[in-house]
Amino acid sequence: MAQGQLDEVARLIGLSDTIHNYLRVPKRVLEVSVPVKMDSGEYRFFSGYRVQHNMSRGPGKGGIRFHPDVTLEEVKALAMWMTWKCALVNIPFGGAKGGVICDPKSMSLQELENLTRRYTSEISIIIGPEKDIPAPDVYTTPQIMAWIMDTFSMQHGYSIPGVVTGKPIAIGGSLGRDRATARGCLYTIDEALHVLDRKIEGTRVAIQGFGNAGLNAAELMSRAGYRIVAVSDSHGGAANSKGLDVSGLIAYKQETGSVAGFSGADKLTNKEVLEYDCDVLVPAALEKVITSENAPRIRAKIVAEAANGPTLPEADEILFDRDIMVLPDILANAGGVTVSYFEWVQDLQETFWEEDAINERLKRKMTRAFREVYEQSRRHKINMRKGAYAVAVDRVAEATKLRGLYP
Ligand code: NAD
Repeated sequence: MAQGQLDEVARLIGLSDTIHNYLRVPKRVLEVSVPVKMDSGEYRFFSGYRVQHNMSRGPGKGGIRFHPDVTLEEVKALAMWMTWKCALVNIPFGGAKGGVICDPKSMSLQELENLTRRYTSEISIIIGPEKDIPAPDVYTTPQIMAWIMDTFSMQHGYSIPGVVTGKPIAIGGSLGRDRATARGCLYTIDEALHVLDRKIEGTRVAIQGFGNAGLNAAELMSRAGYRIVAVSDSHGGAANSKGLDVSGLIAYKQETGSVAGFSGADKLTNKEVLEYDCDVLVPAALEKVITSENAPRIRAKIVAEAANGPTLPEADEILFDRDIMVLPDILANAGGVTVSYFEWVQDLQETFWEEDAINERLKRKMTRAFREVYEQSRRHKINMRKGAYAVAVDRVAEATKLRGLYP
């Protein structure tokens, strides 16, 4: 899928065969065996990967995923998508990704720490603040980032916070990182309303997923004047066409673990939330939820992909034909990696910024990226996703061309 998307954009922007073939495959792949002493005293051996797709624009950047379904092919695709995402918001990073095949839910904290430290040690030959900077992804947390930072630092004999982002604030993390994805998503939606000549006040929003991305999006958007009319999580959803009480909803979620059953709201399934009557739909949970089956029934005018890969290619075409603007994941959720970049800059400079300054810089980055994508999509009469790929691939191709293929 990742290669197919690149092939399509290569034709669109007239990429040379040499650069196209170079960008189709990762620059470097490392596969490691990670021995871990389990609480029982026995050793288990986990397979881990770190893939660097392209580093023409700067060091590699991308999360580490701990999940039983991790495969090398998946990590390669995710690394390529990171290259495009970093290029799109114009931060000086290439794309990378890591993963370990494991089931963190069945492991103790000690076993997870052992796994993280040994995996870090194994990949330390290719990571570093100037080489490749990991971050959290599925089932990896700020605590895990702290262990990565500590292990790498111990190997070198001094603290190196810039080796990883998504760290706790106490050891060099950035203010604003926890809400950056949702905030970035909000800024792109603001811009979309602006070009569609619509007002923020009263714009109705439905959100699927109520975790880091979804919950924070609901809170920030309701504060900005949007009306949140439907939300859902893995247990079900709550809707009220007049608007949900978002702070009440967050308190209810914290108390019960779900938004399902929230009083003053109608029940709905988390499939129904996608088709709820609204102006903006924010998928913020799983991939592949908007399909050719439900795309004809989506009522929103804007779909903002806080989640990665929520829309299938067939559904993309249907939404485009129906004049629904899809803000693609590499744009709509790039706020997270952007503030990760700010974290790295602060770590290297050993000076930390106020949250207002971080949010202001994030806004500038997201707004500019939106405008560039919008301009491309208008110029070529293509959807915003293809527009985003055109901007990003062109930027990476230019850097690769300028540097030349050594030797
Ligand atoms: P999270 O684990 O904090 O939250 C996920 C939410 O999805 C939870 O509320 C969960 O209940 C809900 N969910 C799970 N299964 C569901 C289902 N079947 N139907 C409806 N809801 C369901 O995760 P997150 O960090 O918010 O990430 C969500 C998406 O956003 C993912 O695709 C992730 O890759 C993407 N994303 C997140 C970040 C970030 O910084 N957190 C950055 C970029 C992209």
